[in-house]
Amino acid sequence: MRLFLKLCLSHFLVALLALFLLFLLAEALAPSFYRGHVARMAHALAMMGGGAMAEALRADLEAGLRATLTSALLAALPLSALGAALVALVPSLRLARTARLLAQGSRAMAEGNYGLRLPPLEGDELGELALHFNRLAEALDKVEKTRAELIGTVAHELRTPLSALQGYAEGLSDGVLTPERAAEGILREVRALKRLVEDLALVSRVEAQRVEIRLEALSPKALLEEAYQRFLPAFQSKGVALGLAPIPPLPPVLADRERALQVLANLLHNALRFTPEGGRATLGAYPLEGQVAFFVEDTGVGIPEEHLPHIFKRFYRVDRARSRKDGGTGVGLTVAKGLVEAMGGRVWAESQVGVGSRFTFTLPLYRGFTEGG
Ligand code: ADP
Repeated sequence: MRLFLKLCLSHFLVALLALFLLFLLAEALAPSFYRGHVARMAHALAMMGGGAMAEALRADLEAGLRATLTSALLAALPLSALGAALVALVPSLRLARTARLLAQGSRAMAEGNYGLRLPPLEGDELGELALHFNRLAEALDKVEKTRAELIGTVAHELRTPLSALQGYAEGLSDGVLTPERAAEGILREVRALKRLVEDLALVSRVEAQRVEIRLEALSPKALLEEAYQRFLPAFQSKGVALGLAPIPPLPPVLADRERALQVLANLLHNALRFTPEGGRATLGAYPLEGQVAFFVEDTGVGIPEEHLPHIFKRFYRVDRARSRKDGGTGVGLTVAKGLVEAMGGRVWAESQVGVGSRFTFTLPLYRGFTEGG
């Protein structure tokens, strides 16, 4: 209300000041426009011999003009003031309404209520301000929802290993478990917790785009061979065959060596976990749309179609209990996606239940090289 009064008053004062100046100017200048004309008339009369009469006429005309002008201007003044007040009212009302809405919105936001939206305003700067305010509210709303959801999921993820730890500790103190058995269980749960915390820290850095990426020219073949060598023993010990597909001649990619190997490791780790003994996993690469595509394929359990669009989301698992039992944290694919995107590539999955899965990601070419070059 105070803003409205201030705006109204200032508009009104400006209009009044303009009127007052007009009044002064009219009073000061108008008679002088007529003075020459009247003087010429008086001179003509004087020539005709009516000197005194001419002087009286001149004085009377000038006084008459002044009186008429003053009363006309005074009569116009209230009407003009009313007009000025009306003109001041409209923009003041509009400005005050916008300011009031913005104040209400910001207060609601400060109190943690991000659901409020301003009504659409006219298409000038005020309208733009309201539009930006609504966008800001939407962004904050989204951040708040993600934050609440994340806290809920993390709490849920922590609950399971913590309950297990409590179980082992109670079993130990009740004498139900031997110290060796309890220690073994406690160690396993602590390791799972540690991995979860590390993965979470990495996910949050990836999502905030704060992972350091050191790009260099890398040979796709060398990357695949290194990942193959690192994982071969684990595959052999589970009885799953690991193969390296024939690699066509490929140009170097521009990527961070450790991060690229980490993506391959996360995919290979899943292939190993979700492929039963006697199955097979294959690693390979080929040129694709000006980038190099890397793939990890397995003959494992596969992923039902309805789950495929979600598996890269944080903590999304097709079989929650199984993933946790296998030591999965539910963020391996989220990390892989974040890292691939941070290096300028993309990642996707194809799968068929009971047949197997194929995960593919691309990495950009090292500058100066073209496909097949
Ligand atoms: P997790 O730690 O549970 O493996 P990920 O983010 O790595 O988390 O994977 C998410 C989910 O995607 C897994 O729980 C699993 O259901 C599914 N998944 C990932 N890779 C494979 C695969 N190679 N075969 C079958 N399912 C897979």
